[in-house]
Amino acid sequence: MSFLIIAIDGGAAAGKSTTARALSSRFNFLHIDTGSYYRALTAELLRRGLNPAEVTAVESALAELPLGTVVDGRRAQIEVGGRLVPEAELRGPAVNAAVSHFAALPAVRAALLAYQRDQARIAREHRFAGLVMEGRDIGTVIFPDADFRFFLHADPEERARRRAAEGQQDSIAERDRLDSTRKAAPLLCPPGAIDIDSTFLSLDEVVARVSGPIAAQMGA
Ligand code: C5P
Repeated sequence: MSFLIIAIDGGAAAGKSTTARALSSRFNFLHIDTGSYYRALTAELLRRGLNPAEVTAVESALAELPLGTVVDGRRAQIEVGGRLVPEAELRGPAVNAAVSHFAALPAVRAALLAYQRDQARIAREHRFAGLVMEGRDIGTVIFPDADFRFFLHADPEERARRRAAEGQQDSIAERDRLDSTRKAAPLLCPPGAIDIDSTFLSLDEVVARVSGPIAAQMGA
C-alpha cells in the first residue's frame, strides 16, 4: 500500500493537534507536531540566554545543536542537543511568549527544514502507513506535494476559549499576527488545500471531514 503524507496547517488552537492525533490513530500514521519542534528549539535557545534579536549568536548556537527524533507510540518527538524538552517547559509561558519571534528567523526555519522532511523516512522505517504533520507551513513549504493538505481555522474568540479551557496562558492572537505577517514561510492557506472553518463544528465533526477523503483513498 502507498505511503500517505497529510499536511494540516492553521493558527493556534484551530484544532490541528486533536485532528492529527485522531488521524494518526485511525490510519496508523506517524503524528508530527512541528509546533513542538519550534517550541523545543526556543526552549533550548532561551536556556542558553539567547533572544531572537541576537541573530548571529542564534545561528552559531543552532550550528552546534544536533537534532534527533524519538518515536513514542505514534508520535515523533524532537531531541535538541540530546535532550527531550519536558512538556511543561514546551508549553510554559516563557516559550509561548518567545516562540513566534524565534520562528520568524530564517536561520531557525532552515535548521528544521531538512529535519522535518526527513521525518517521512523515519515514518517509513517504523512501518507507518503515512505521516500526518501539523504546523504553519507544511502544505506551503515542507510538503507542498502532500497527498492531502488541510487548512483549519476558527474565530479568534472560539480559539481563545479552547486554550483557556485547556488551562493555558497563551496569547494566541499575538502569535497568529506574528506568524501571518513574517517574511519567512508565513501562515497562510496553501493554494488548493481543503479549507475548514471549525468555529461552529465539534472536534468530532472536524475529524470526520478530514478523515473522509483519506479513508476513501485508502479504501478504509
Ligand atoms: O502549533 P503551536 O502553536 O504549538 O506552534 C508554536 C509556534 O511555532 C507558532 O506560533 C509558530 O510561531 C511556530 N511554528 C511555525 N511553523 C510551524 C509550526 C509552528 O512557525 N510549522
